[in-house]
Amino acid sequence: MLTAAEVKKQARALGADAVAIGSTDRWEGAPIQMDPRQIMPEAKSVVAMAFRVMRGSLRGIEEGTFFSNYSAMGYGGLTYLYMPLVVINLSKFIEDAGYEAFPMGHQSDWRAVDNVGRPRENYSRPVAPGRAAPDVMVHLRIAAYLCGLGEIGYSKVFLTPQFGPRQRIGLVITEAELEPDPIMKPGTLCNRCMACVKDCPGNAISRDKTVKVRLGGYDVEWGDLDCAACDVAFRGGALTDEPLTPEQAYMEPKNGRNVAPAPWTPFAHKPKNVYNTGQAVCGGRGCLRACMISLEKRGVLENRFHSAFRRREPWSVDWRADRATPASAAEAKEPD
Ligand code: SF4
Ligand code: SF4
Repeated sequence: MLTAAEVKKQARALGADAVAIGSTDRWEGAPIQMDPRQIMPEAKSVVAMAFRVMRGSLRGIEEGTFFSNYSAMGYGGLTYLYMPLVVINLSKFIEDAGYEAFPMGHQSDWRAVDNVGRPRENYSRPVAPGRAAPDVMVHLRIAAYLCGLGEIGYSKVFLTPQFGPRQRIGLVITEAELEPDPIMKPGTLCNRCMACVKDCPGNAISRDKTVKVRLGGYDVEWGDLDCAACDVAFRGGALTDEPLTPEQAYMEPKNGRNVAPAPWTPFAHKPKNVYNTGQAVCGGRGCLRACMISLEKRGVLENRFHSAFRRREPWSVDWRADRATPASAAEAKEPD
């Protein structure tokens, strides 16, 4: 019979950086659109794996000199290239032992709900009564928490004892019954230092408004995330009511407002995506880098370094002069 220890050993050998297992009964009461048992009704276990973002992949953004590495190697490439190979090969290992396994190594692009769980209108319909509309979206962070891989931080980013906020999550859902790991008590890693809130350039994480849910026998709470604000800020954009010429616009308007380059991007226009989703120009200034710096300072992470991450003052770019109209630029010019 296949054991949890064998599955974890294989997952690590294949390239996962941390592994934990949860039993599917931990999803009891979950919304139908997010329940892995809707995908595989006889599933008994979920294997959650962390794939680390190299701290060095954030170095170029920290220094303001190389931005695409995090988006490519730490974001899109990890999600769409590296992780699928590991979850596919782990699923093969489990299926070779005679248990069906579902490799979930990418985001659920065809899901029937949007980022905040609202149904997408006129999109898909259940094929039979009692079944979810396709595609089901298994919430990766909640799954990782229910497997005991770590906890959901105040920033809503998933934190592990190994890497803090520095990883992406992949899953294998399987009919194999495997020994589950204990769920991590909320507050084990996140001490509500609020560094994520303070340093988020888009003010996307609320300091006061929170979301509370009961998960795996614990009350779990995170700061209310303004997805629309993050959506613009993380790409390096700043909403403005100023009229902008096409040369001055950073990207297409959002919700009827123009988007200018923000002080946390060195690019005049949003660079193209790498590996589909990779366009994280802000480099998780609050929810990733500030959080990691805080957790490293407290000495709570297992992946340790000889030098602190932040070595120089954070940079910013002043784009205002570029937006001055020819008239105001002329006014600003010193008289001869
Ligand atoms: S920055 Fe502090 S409050 Fe925010 S998630 Fe990290 S540990 Fe929690
Ligand atoms: S990705 Fe950037 S903008 Fe979005 S919440 Fe994190 S720090 Fe804020």
